[in-house]
Amino acid sequence: MSVKASRVAVDGCRWPSKYRHATKDDAFAAIAALERAGRGSPDMSVYPCAGHWHTGHSIEKFKARIQRSLRGGRAKRSKSNRKGRR
Ligand SMILES: [Zn+2]
Repeated sequence: MSVKASRVAVDGCRWPSKYRHATKDDAFAAIAALERAGRGSPDMSVYPCAGHWHTGHSIEKFKARIQRSLRGGRAKRSKSNRKGRR
């Protein structure tokens, strides 16, 4: 038996250290909960893994948002202060 050091968990999970959501709905619910707590991000996304779901920042969403702001909003450089401060 050859034992290879692998970062992939036995069940094929690519992100063993991340929290696993059983269903897509669970993953979306987790994102919604973060948003309600004021810790959400427009770049958060859900993605399927080996029989479960993870949440995380979507690089594609992030890039798309940056591209959009680079093209469109050159005039407005103000940082968004919509973090729900009192
Ligand atoms: Zn996984």
